[in-house]
Amino acid sequence: MRVHDSLIELMGNTPLVRLRKVTAGAPAQVLAKVEYFNPGGSVKDRIALRMVEAAERSGALKPGGTIVEPTSGNTGVGLAIVAQEKGYKCLFVCPDKVANDKIAVLRAYGAEVVVCPTAVSPDHPDSYYSVSDRLAREVPNAWKPDQYSNPENPASHYHSTGPEIWEQTEGRITHFVAGVGTGGTISGTGRYLKEVSDGRVKIIGADPEGSVYSGGTGRPYLVEGVGEDIWPATYDTTICDEIIAVSDRDSFGMTRRLAREEALLVGGSCGMATVAAVRVARNAGPDDVVVVLLPDSGRGYLSKIFNDEWMADYGFLSTAANEHAVGEVL
Ligand code: PMP
Repeated sequence: MRVHDSLIELMGNTPLVRLRKVTAGAPAQVLAKVEYFNPGGSVKDRIALRMVEAAERSGALKPGGTIVEPTSGNTGVGLAIVAQEKGYKCLFVCPDKVANDKIAVLRAYGAEVVVCPTAVSPDHPDSYYSVSDRLAREVPNAWKPDQYSNPENPASHYHSTGPEIWEQTEGRITHFVAGVGTGGTISGTGRYLKEVSDGRVKIIGADPEGSVYSGGTGRPYLVEGVGEDIWPATYDTTICDEIIAVSDRDSFGMTRRLAREEALLVGGSCGMATVAAVRVARNAGPDDVVVVLLPDSGRGYLSKIFNDEWMADYGFLSTAANEHAVGEVL
């Protein structure tokens, strides 16, 4: 019988799919690494598995222990799946701005979720940061993965995402494009691709306008999961050849086009990375192969990016004559 004993066996090995419509006019082909095929629905399954297995080996995570992490989304789902399989408990800390649906998903997998107020300073005892630090100290047998400083985060991409892309493209990849949040994806995948190609593969980070990676100050943006106002330890500053800043409007416009034209119902950071990838492909040659990583599914964004009223409230649907059409890449 062709059967898997555990969902963990299905983490990674996601498909590469050629984009055919949104790349129109670009000489180079663009291939999307579609991470929603992971069992938890996002790229974060990869880091969850590797961080937990490393903590088991080092003894930081003991049998029956509790995983404590400030996370509201994809990392929590990955950790919850791995924890269930291996007999750990999960305790996640979320800010109260997180959509109820996201909290419901974590609870559905059996995780306990503590919700903290957003309207307090980071050093307030009730803040998201203070509460997760306190719980990690006080809960018996607690272990905090800390995806922003854990070297197993980029290492998971060095050992899985990078080699998969190299093999899937038979070494023909010339450019790798990914959004940058913790920086784990771009740093680990990018380092592997540079090493294996003797520096031939160009690594391009996509970043929301306003975030530090593209020279901003942390000014707010709406695209989720990417951009930072601090420099996390998991981001290797020596890997990216270029960082492309993308506006929320362009990110969300492209996210909607990916669903309508490529049948890829994906999240906002996927639209952002695709805008950057199309820009790269326009300036590349016909033999170039651009790979763009799409981190998650669009199901978590139905009330935002895929909701016309929400888009209109932020002015993302306006079509004034002096503005480019939504989803058009300039
Ligand atoms: N997109 C989404 C939706 C994410 O959750 C994340 C992870 N924060 C990223 C992109 C960026 O990945 P990384 O943390 O590896 O830089």
